Amino acid sequence: MEFRESHVYADVLIIGGGSAGAMAAIRAKEVDPAQKVVVFEKGHILYSGCIARGMDALNIVAVPGKTTPELYVESNGIACEGLMDEPVNYRMAERSYPLMKKLESWGVFFPKDNEGNYELLQVHPKGKFCLSMKEPELKTILAKRLSGLSCQVFNRVMGLQLIVKEGRVAGAIGINIHTGEFVVCHAGSVILSSGGTARFGLPNNGYLYGVYDFPGNTGDGYAMAFRAGAELTGFEYTLNYYIIKDINAPLLYITLTRGANLLTAMDVHLENNHPSIKSMVLEHRKDVGPLRIRMKHLPEARIREIEDILFTTERPVQQRFFEGRGVNFRTGDIELWPTEFYLCGGHGMTGIFVDEKAATTLPGLYAAGDVSLVARGHLSGAFVYGEIAAEEATEHARKHPPAKEPGPQGLEDLKKDLRQRSAQKDGEVSIEEFEYKVRRLIGDYVTPPKNAYKLNQALWWMDRFQKEIREKVRIRHIHDLFKVLEVENIILCAKLSASASLERKESRWGFWHYRADFPEKDDKNWLKHIMLKKGETPEEIRIHHRPVAKMQ
Ligand SMILES: Cc1cc2nc3c(=O)[nH]c(=O)nc-3n(C[C@H](O)[C@H](O)[C@H](O)COP(=O)(O)OP(=O)(O)OC[C@H]3O[C@@H](n4cnc5c(N)ncnc54)[C@H](O)[C@@H]3O)c2cc1C
Repeated sequence: MEFRESHVYADVLIIGGGSAGAMAAIRAKEVDPAQKVVVFEKGHILYSGCIARGMDALNIVAVPGKTTPELYVESNGIACEGLMDEPVNYRMAERSYPLMKKLESWGVFFPKDNEGNYELLQVHPKGKFCLSMKEPELKTILAKRLSGLSCQVFNRVMGLQLIVKEGRVAGAIGINIHTGEFVVCHAGSVILSSGGTARFGLPNNGYLYGVYDFPGNTGDGYAMAFRAGAELTGFEYTLNYYIIKDINAPLLYITLTRGANLLTAMDVHLENNHPSIKSMVLEHRKDVGPLRIRMKHLPEARIREIEDILFTTERPVQQRFFEGRGVNFRTGDIELWPTEFYLCGGHGMTGIFVDEKAATTLPGLYAAGDVSLVARGHLSGAFVYGEIAAEEATEHARKHPPAKEPGPQGLEDLKKDLRQRSAQKDGEVSIEEFEYKVRRLIGDYVTPPKNAYKLNQALWWMDRFQKEIREKVRIRHIHDLFKVLEVENIILCAKLSASASLERKESRWGFWHYRADFPEKDDKNWLKHIMLKKGETPEEIRIHHRPVAKMQ
């Protein structure tokens, strides 16, 4: 394979054009229309990422007069079982209402009642923060706005490696996943917004890409940041969702907050009709699952309202799915099932460490959305921190404009490496089979119930996979090659997760970090963050602890 290269210069480079990245690009142009903003997007920015196209709620909005940022910090602190940095979450909640108003001014539809009140739903331990949105075109609205502001988008370009010069991040190297051409972006500052690790555990439906989160998110941002020397945290929070069986599509907030009932397999109504995902996963494991959602008692108008949201904003494919299964909400129930395990900052607590300025521990590198840790920030976190990252990255870029010089260091090594891999034409295993095995072993050894033996086995297997992917996998064309790069990132994420899980010698967050050899929660010793950083060699994972940040 011949790897041609092109060079581009930017004030701000954004890696990942999903919710956080699109918002960051727009904000960067708003604060300085003259600056050059470049986006690397692995898919196509019109439809890529968690939003895909539409979404039904902004999960955290502190509406003045209804709730406060203070209450949100208290409420989310309970949901995170104390392991939440207060200032980061406070800032998100503080900016959530202006952010919602801004989206509204762009034409995003937030329904109101006759008195002009927004529809607010309770999904947090305290306070109604979940604000209904009915916008089937959310992602396209963002993408069009960004194009109108003359941001330069490189679709189908996967960020591979950050450029670090004298301890400062100064751009990144990407590769076009269709042509194999390198795109080298020399930048004043870089924002990582490439999502979490959606392809981590295997889903029950047996499809590598049939996951809950966006399947193009393979932990690339975690891997790039780690390899460049940034600190990461929360990798022991191995999360799964509880959602529509087989299709793994969302519906809980849409149905349960609108009067649907939740039943066990034995037809017992759960007392709490809207428990947390964490407790639904636990309920399922108590052998009373699968849980089911029932709506036949609801008036026709309410069922139609739910169908209207599910079959438009939350993806038309749901309508086809239920028709195919013969499920009509007026007569039949919806079966729920746990999804695969995955790593994510927005739903979970895994990510690149960031402060209230979206700054990582590396100068010039900012992070926003699911790739960063703004615990359980969801879409609101991605949007608000996308904006904050853009403001801060713009400031940084003003002081450090991109250098017009050849290079960067490492490009030739990267090319040599990829050429060598491309020569693996006769490998005995296809990359799909290899990915299946990696993720099967992640399911066996990294995800709960955990114990020291299993986690050590995980580390042994992942080391072995890191070698075997360079020896045994068949690479026929660029498509195989970029999948290999994705799977390498999944393997690294598994190592980070197993290392953090071994370190946290307690159980926390329900099943999600359940250590059978340390079954109790231990606030006395473990109410602190586990931080991960690259050591002297690329293989070494260094661990230290950090106290929870409190409001001053
Ligand atoms: C099914 C589902 C439903 C949800 N519903 C809600 C809801 O109703 N309300 C709510 O508040 N939150 C919701 N969330 C959560 C919310 O959508 C996410 O937290 C948020 O969208 C994350 O934004 P992001 O930019 O970090 O990730 P994404 O939007 O996933 O964007 C990541 C982007 O990075 C790109 N990328 C990945 N790797 C690379 C690479 N190496 N180089 C270049 N690009 C790369 C991907 O292609 C993708 O476009 C939902 C999430 C899911 C999965």
